[in-house]
Amino acid sequence: MSAACLMSTYQPLPLNFNKGLGTRLWDQAGREYLDAIAGVAVTGIGHSHPKLVQAISEQAGLLLHSSNLYDIHWQQQLAAKLTGLAGMDCAFFNNSGAEANETALKLARLHGWYKGIEHPLVVVMENAFHGRTLGTLSASDGPAVRLGYGILPGDFLKVPFGDLAALESNIAEYGPRICAVLMEPIQGESGIRLAPAGYLKALRELCTRRNWLLMLDEIQSGIGRSGRWFACQHEGVVPDVMTLAKGLGNGIPIGACLARGKAAQLFTPGSHGSTFGGNPLACRAACTVLEIIEEQGLLANAQRQGALLLQRLRETLKGHAQVLEIRGLGLMIGIELRHMPRDLVQIAARDHGLLINVTRGKTIRLLPPLVIDEVEVEMIVQGLCRMLKDL
Ligand SMILES: *Cc1c(COP(=O)(O)O)cnc(C)c1O
Repeated sequence: MSAACLMSTYQPLPLNFNKGLGTRLWDQAGREYLDAIAGVAVTGIGHSHPKLVQAISEQAGLLLHSSNLYDIHWQQQLAAKLTGLAGMDCAFFNNSGAEANETALKLARLHGWYKGIEHPLVVVMENAFHGRTLGTLSASDGPAVRLGYGILPGDFLKVPFGDLAALESNIAEYGPRICAVLMEPIQGESGIRLAPAGYLKALRELCTRRNWLLMLDEIQSGIGRSGRWFACQHEGVVPDVMTLAKGLGNGIPIGACLARGKAAQLFTPGSHGSTFGGNPLACRAACTVLEIIEEQGLLANAQRQGALLLQRLRETLKGHAQVLEIRGLGLMIGIELRHMPRDLVQIAARDHGLLINVTRGKTIRLLPPLVIDEVEVEMIVQGLCRMLKDL
């Protein structure tokens, strides 16, 4: 078997998993691994959750797809559930995070258009990541993802993350063209970065005052990952537009764009669409994921285990010469190192049976499943400590 027929966009580890259960994965040799990355913030309720397996199997035997030409019961159920949890008014369903953000960016454009702005600008943050389509790449930062793609479509004003004064200093020049602000409440790909307390609330007030849409990309931070349903709820902030994906389907591809107030009135029949978006299988899976999170009290667990993991990492790695900062919220944790040792991710898997990830070169990123327990938290801590001490 060879990967020669695949476009070389990733450099996968030579590990091939063929079974997962809860927080564990097994490779072809039958070796067990503790999953501390959850498919990049996707499998929050764990692998092969029996209730999800049952719901997907039943739906597969009933109906996979009918198209958005017809009412879709599970889509309506999911929209009602999600908008209720988020304090939003309505939803549009996509197949991925990037697509959900494209939906949000189209809402921003329409909002600008109705405001009579000829060349609308969307404010985005330094070090942001919003996806890999041309539109969402334009909203993202960093040569690593943008290099070689030429002039990207769309007009964006990039400002420092978490710095309201920096944004305000642009208003005199760009204010009349701004129609929206798009940001991650917790920056994931750039190494788990949190905005200072109060920033989101102040940004919410600024957006309301100036009639800009506040659009929050909760694709990584949402669906319980931060210990609340959505990270913005820690600050008591409700956006005008919110995007979701990753943890929503627990592995079944689904994205969502939620809108509220005037943002919920912008689309009209024909102004946006998707062939697969919101199909019965994906929506029933997502409904079931939300039910499981509620039934098993996984928000409280993510809060508790996340706080424990952060505390134990800080205790155990205290004074370590290589560790610059340990930060995070809920089960979104970054350990920034001075220098990233070579092959750290491979070593973690091979020598410690631990699946982790590294972002932006120098930060170990932990995104364990929301179902993780105390014993497993300690396994992650001990694995990482042994590994960092060896180096
Ligand atoms: C993963 C991610 C995306 C892109 O989602 P895809 O499903 O890969 O298109 C967008 N925004 C954030 C914050 C993400 O973490």
